[in-house]
Amino acid sequence: MTRPQAKSVTLTKVSKAVGLPSHPLSRRLRRFLKTVDAIHTATNLKQVAVEMNPLVRGAVFNAYTATGPYTIQLNPNGSHVELSLIHEVGHFLEWQAIPKSGFGQRSFKGDPLFAVWLQAVRESQNVNRLLDLRDAEAEESLVQKTANYLLDEQELWARSYSEYIAVKMLSPALLQQIAAENKVIMGNIQLKPYWNTADFHSVQSAIDAIFRTLSWSK
Ligand SMILES: [Zn+2]
Repeated sequence: MTRPQAKSVTLTKVSKAVGLPSHPLSRRLRRFLKTVDAIHTATNLKQVAVEMNPLVRGAVFNAYTATGPYTIQLNPNGSHVELSLIHEVGHFLEWQAIPKSGFGQRSFKGDPLFAVWLQAVRESQNVNRLLDLRDAEAEESLVQKTANYLLDEQELWARSYSEYIAVKMLSPALLQQIAAENKVIMGNIQLKPYWNTADFHSVQSAIDAIFRTLSWSK
């Protein structure tokens, strides 16, 4: 695969940082990303190139080296394209733009910026339920493995970021896709990766505070 060229320009708008390819979906996604700009800005954003890839499950964020270039592989046939894209934008922001990323190895525990968020996430019913599912069975099942993955701090960040954008934007597409993802059944169990409204409240406030501290708030 040819590596995309890193551009030295830095940006403050998510819609400008995310480069969409020539594809029938891109018009819709460009409009969608512009609405993210109305929720928050960012500092020192580099470019991330979206590549349509029908072989990935949902979407994947890639950093070719610690400092880029960056890509998001997005499956254009996925059932929740906007949600997948915004989830990977969450990974991109955490990795590239929020200070002290460790390039994918952030110590969320040791980072004061994330302290309130981490506490809110850990105290949420959603995460406690996932912990119960992870620890429920003696033998490792697909449900346990998936719960374990969902409990990874970077995944908690990207998932909470996507739900934050959905709630702030009141995006029908994102909210419907989140509701649909919460209905997915695996081994007779609804994993429910996303928080319900009341449970999300303190997580949402914590992300508000992170963006205020970073001066990313609108
Ligand atoms: Zn992820």
